[in-house]
Amino acid sequence: MDTTAPSARPPHPRPAAREVRRAPGAGAVLRAVLDHGPVARSTVARLTGLSPASVTGHCARLLDRGLIRQAPETAGPRGLGRPHVPMEIERDGPLAAGAHIGVACSTLSLTDLRGRVVWQERLPHPQAPGRTPERVLELLAAHIPELVDRHADGRRVTALGVATGHRVDPAAGVVLDHPLLGWQDVPVRARLEAASGLPVEVDSHARALTRAEQLFGEPAVRTAARASAVVLFVGAVVDAAFSTGAAVHEGPRAGAGGVAHLPVGVERGETPMRCVCGGYGCLSAEASERAMLGRAAAAGLPVPSFRALLDAALAGEPRALALFLRRARLAGRAAALLIDLFDPAVLVVVEPGSCRLPRCLGALRREAVRCSRSLGPADAEDVVVPSSFPRSVLATAGSAVALHALYTDPLKQLPNTRT
Ligand SMILES: [Zn+2]
Repeated sequence: MDTTAPSARPPHPRPAAREVRRAPGAGAVLRAVLDHGPVARSTVARLTGLSPASVTGHCARLLDRGLIRQAPETAGPRGLGRPHVPMEIERDGPLAAGAHIGVACSTLSLTDLRGRVVWQERLPHPQAPGRTPERVLELLAAHIPELVDRHADGRRVTALGVATGHRVDPAAGVVLDHPLLGWQDVPVRARLEAASGLPVEVDSHARALTRAEQLFGEPAVRTAARASAVVLFVGAVVDAAFSTGAAVHEGPRAGAGGVAHLPVGVERGETPMRCVCGGYGCLSAEASERAMLGRAAAAGLPVPSFRALLDAALAGEPRALALFLRRARLAGRAAALLIDLFDPAVLVVVEPGSCRLPRCLGALRREAVRCSRSLGPADAEDVVVPSSFPRSVLATAGSAVALHALYTDPLKQLPNTRT
């Protein structure tokens, strides 16, 4: 599906054969400790299929880096190396830094190894046309070291994860195309690594949030998301990601998940808005933050920002609530199309109304059932779920890019034992 205006550029050249790393053993051990800790090394060996000797070696390296610890009740100088001493993720271990680059602002964050956000703040962008990649990346480069100095409390920071919408090439660390920001081929990793001194990982926010659900989501969602998932992101940007097993699909042009122009139509009596693609009834044109502000103004509810509209709805303002219910129903139509296409174990909705306002999630599910050919009312609650991170979704998206890399290959991200 095309996410760009009709004048889309030809596909961005990407490496034909990208290096696919097998998940090294240390990552499998770290993930087993995250899922099952406190857990004995002998159990980790059984869970991962690694030999007990190999698990003991990996645990020693993870202990050295402060990523895991012996569970306190059994810790002691004589406990080291004993195979039945349970291991768990180090609560006070390193942190991951995150930066979600939105349209009006970025969200900076620090997150612990269990995916808990310990700090988040919003960094407003300059208004367009001053919102150039150079200016936004300069702002981030200036604030990230300050974030670490002030709020990491002396803890080591493993890496900076950067997430944003539209087309992102994680291997190159480049934002290929972000029409709302007007960015093309922006080398985010190269710029921010040089400025922050941290390793930088870059990915799309929808893929990052898929991985966050797989690693740290609510238990039932986490289990389902490891089987197969669609994450539908409805914000300033409207996009999606899908996964089967642990693999989150990117596509050869990093274009997977472009759902902005899914045809969802409008509701009875409404005049459709014209989309940037020239069509009418596209999901983005009717449900993005910009569309919501346009509909709010038309309903006699002028608000200065999307955040103000959400605050009004949270305070019970009826016109604001009606707009979020409408948005939920349109997202439900898109959810139905995606469920019929992918048949995922779970479809996670990242949309503040459905996550935080009463009745929106129910409205979204009912519309999804009404429009889907495969989703029954009995399945809707299990299949269509809100984000596991309702109050920290953007903070989680950024950090999850770094934490996914850490849980994939912790020794690559932390090659030395400096703690
Ligand atoms: Zn369109």
